[in-house]
Amino acid sequence: MKVGFDLDGTLDRPELAQLARVLYDAGCEIHVITANAIAVAKYYQTREDKEKKLLRLGVLYTELHLAAGTTFSEVGQEKARIIREQGIEVMFDDSTTFCNMMEEHSDAVILRVREPNERVAAKLFSRYKRS
Ligand SMILES: [Mg+2]
Repeated sequence: MKVGFDLDGTLDRPELAQLARVLYDAGCEIHVITANAIAVAKYYQTREDKEKKLLRLGVLYTELHLAAGTTFSEVGQEKARIIREQGIEVMFDDSTTFCNMMEEHSDAVILRVREPNERVAAKLFSRYKRS
């Protein structure tokens, strides 16, 4: 089975990282599909930052995909395109906007993870905050 996970606000939640580990150990393909959008990101990370983050989270994965775009709409479309291209069957993401777009533009089962509140977000992303 091919399973997709968003990174920020999703795989960095301990429960979701644990789920990804269990699925990986069970033989699922784990595809990390994450936004790479300087224009829309409050907390910008390079590919290397994201790889380091995944290492720190202890999440093994099949492939890391960066969904580029200059607007939320473009990033959502790109996430949906990657899902279709890779044949992802189930996708987890914390963004309502992206979930809606992926539902509209792919046949995957889209599961929305509750978005982190401000306190949790500050803890998850503080090291990437732009000055
Ligand atoms: Mg997210």
